[in-house]
Amino acid sequence: MTRKVRTRYAPSPTGFMHVGNLRTALYEYLIAKSQGGTFVLRIEDTDQERYVDGAVDVIYNTLKTAGLKHDEGPDIGGDYGPYVQSERKDMYLPFAEKLIENGKAYRCFCSKERLEALRNTEEFAQGGYDRHCRDLPQEEIDKLLAEGVPYVIRQKMPLDGETTFTDSVFGEITAPNSELQDQILIKTDGYPTYNFANVIDDHTMGITHVVRGNEYLSSTPKYNLLYEAFGWEIPTYVHLPLIMGQNDDGTTSKLSKRHGSTGFEDLIKDGFLPQAIINYIALLGWCPKDNQEIFTLAELEKAFSIDGISKSPAVFDYNKLEWFNGEYIKAMSVQEFEQAARPYILQAIGNKPFDTLKIAAILQQRTTKLTQIPAVIDFFAQQPEYSKDLFVNKKSKTNFENAPIMLKAVYDELSVLEQWNHDILHDTLINLAVKLGVKNGTVMWPARIAVSGKAVTPGGAVEILDILGKKESLKRMEQGLQKLS
Ligand code: GLU
Repeated sequence: MTRKVRTRYAPSPTGFMHVGNLRTALYEYLIAKSQGGTFVLRIEDTDQERYVDGAVDVIYNTLKTAGLKHDEGPDIGGDYGPYVQSERKDMYLPFAEKLIENGKAYRCFCSKERLEALRNTEEFAQGGYDRHCRDLPQEEIDKLLAEGVPYVIRQKMPLDGETTFTDSVFGEITAPNSELQDQILIKTDGYPTYNFANVIDDHTMGITHVVRGNEYLSSTPKYNLLYEAFGWEIPTYVHLPLIMGQNDDGTTSKLSKRHGSTGFEDLIKDGFLPQAIINYIALLGWCPKDNQEIFTLAELEKAFSIDGISKSPAVFDYNKLEWFNGEYIKAMSVQEFEQAARPYILQAIGNKPFDTLKIAAILQQRTTKLTQIPAVIDFFAQQPEYSKDLFVNKKSKTNFENAPIMLKAVYDELSVLEQWNHDILHDTLINLAVKLGVKNGTVMWPARIAVSGKAVTPGGAVEILDILGKKESLKRMEQGLQKLS
């Protein structure tokens, strides 16, 4: 019988969502959704030392912004709760005691001092345990228990043979059992280690697919021995390769801050859209069957399959992400874009009463990151100091001789306009060019320079005049004429 697919995203609340974590969450989500399954959120907060205030909210907000809606979780409940590990902490000890009964685990009474002394021996300098308590006689155990000597519970690894499993991405992996440590399952305070809790949680929550970073690959044989000891079905493992960053010298190394932003919220602050980030991250390690690149989340839910995941490390390419972002921006309606761009537009124009929708319209096709916006529209709020050389342009056939004549002609035509809108401005300037027998550009260029003070602007003369309004436009043209005289 095949079980209903259940995946879980199990973040530790560290206050930061690295793109690697987000990719794990996305793949968990997509594996569930592509197979009609359930996507579970479990908060792994037992490592109290790493606990950060407000960190759980970062997880909720990220999933929400990214559109990865979970079907069960701490905030919405479900049949397999609690969904916060610290609320499950009394569940684990009975499972460990069961393993002791079955001879798959044992109590270890070794003192801190003894374990520290072990570190001073050559064999255990790098860690590990000499299995001192593995075969204590029962009377000895009973005596220590009666004395109340604190103990941990350790997993009893097989001393020979090997453990093999198949990972969906990395294929068959075999580990000699002699290399597996008798790892601690339950600490002296009675609470589980991560290595024990994740197995118990995944099983008791009915998880069918475990997706996580490949740093867990080497621990998986230990987990599988636990599943086997309990007689539980081993989940399908999907270990994901590292995400790398491109170094200046052409090499790559694990993606970190020196490559650029690595957190979801930081990428949003850099001006990337959540949908573009998700689309890009989906392709960081997964290859669709055809060469499609732009996917909505709904399309990903249909197209995603585990066999398209690659085991070679993916390189996070900020330029490629920016390309995706530009494509997403272009595909928006101008209203949607205005909404996304508004904070950046307002940053540049402050409380000046310009039409943000019109500004958005001239920005949309040329914007690849929202953060580019303030600098390219700064001239609306305040015209920069500019050199009169800007009026000279070869392609538009303008020079110091004709520029003042053109600008004055534009000024005269526009100053008598009773209505001021895009179409009227457009027709007036085109007709003027015809009347003067010059290229459109010869009329438009000096006008645009005069009202913007910039060689490069989003939008042309007509759009900028329209947005600035009659009074401000005429004022700027007067100043331009003065500069040219
Ligand atoms: N809490 C672990 C982490 O954030 C999850 C690992 C797993 O998915 O099993 O790395």
